[in-house]
Amino acid sequence: MSFDIEQIRRDFPILHQKIYNRRLIYFDNAATTQRPQQVIDALNRTYIEYYGNIHRAAHFLADKATEAYEETREKVRGLINAPAREQVIFTKGTTESINLAAFSYGEAFVGEGDEIIVSEMEHHSNIVPWQLMAGRKGAKIVMLPIDDDGRLKIELLDSLINEHTRLITCAHVSNVLGTINPVKKIAETAHAHGIHIFVDGAQAAPHLKIDVQDMNVDFYAFSAHKMYGPNGVGVLYGKRELLEQMPPYQGGGEMISEVRFAGTTYNELPYKFEAGTPNISGVIAFGAAIDYLGSVGIENIANQEKTLLAYATKRLMEIPGIKIYGTQPEKSGVISFNVEGIHPFDLGTMLDKMGIAVRTGHHCADPLMQHFNIPGTVRASFAFYNTPEEIDLFIDALKKVIALF
Ligand code: PLP
Repeated sequence: MSFDIEQIRRDFPILHQKIYNRRLIYFDNAATTQRPQQVIDALNRTYIEYYGNIHRAAHFLADKATEAYEETREKVRGLINAPAREQVIFTKGTTESINLAAFSYGEAFVGEGDEIIVSEMEHHSNIVPWQLMAGRKGAKIVMLPIDDDGRLKIELLDSLINEHTRLITCAHVSNVLGTINPVKKIAETAHAHGIHIFVDGAQAAPHLKIDVQDMNVDFYAFSAHKMYGPNGVGVLYGKRELLEQMPPYQGGGEMISEVRFAGTTYNELPYKFEAGTPNISGVIAFGAAIDYLGSVGIENIANQEKTLLAYATKRLMEIPGIKIYGTQPEKSGVISFNVEGIHPFDLGTMLDKMGIAVRTGHHCADPLMQHFNIPGTVRASFAFYNTPEEIDLFIDALKKVIALF
């Protein structure tokens, strides 16, 4: 499959505009990516051609919408190599997927005195739901630390796991450090001790080939808006035997089988976990995003982003006083850095005025900021539509900003 960067960039209309009269350079892809015309068209088509509420009415529009919605479920199944479509649950994003899993898993499997291991590099979305669950169940959160290169100290796992441990959770890829965690290996360790593993795949699914069966993870979560799809759509994958034992997260329409005032029975998977009218058009358009990713090719995407990461790292190292956080070799296209003597927020604001979108702050990873004893970083995160030329412009702008201070 060939990789035509000019054509790819033409597919993304938002990239071709000026910001403050400067060419837009979008390096905030870890926060959210932009959408190709194919996804925008798919979204529009649902409203123009076949919008109706799914799974319920026996009429043409509802049937067509249901078919398209369920087609996306099958596409997601294929994308992550899930064994069955029933194991793909649609949510509104990674955050909701984690809240769902933490609540329902907690109800089914966690009791007083139990322990959940959470890695130090997690996004708040993969810390707080587990803390809430632990608070309800009288369980304890145990931290799996990182080293100063941003590598998870998985060699400590054996000593952290004991007879109270129920589950370990970590990101597949860190949103701050870019570290790619060895989740297959962590899953092996977890299962050797009879515990489960939940993986936050928000920063991995857009960039890597995901095979939930090969990694043998028990749960995997990600968001469509970080994958060139619509916002308000996410996925929770789970092993069937676990999902079947877990109670519903929310009550409402669709998730029931029969409702009586004497008691309610629940629908089968995946509907048991999909209460209420979902983001119908968003899920359908997510199908178009998956098609688009397939047409570019995940290997091409990974290669382009690897090239960008290596080039940006090399160019950033030219800058005196720069410190990059996340320096171990297994890394995705995210660079967090600070420049000595300049607050990250000031750097980000000045870069914005030069047309360059980066993110600054704690990146919803306070414990990680505490590890490095910093208030925040500047984060540049790449997508396959970015180019080395944009990196050159970014470095020039950064040098100008630093000279001003
Ligand atoms: N987990 C990680 C690693 C993330 O980077 C993010 C978002 O940046 C999330 C979870 C939350 O994703 P969402 O806001 O789409 O629910």
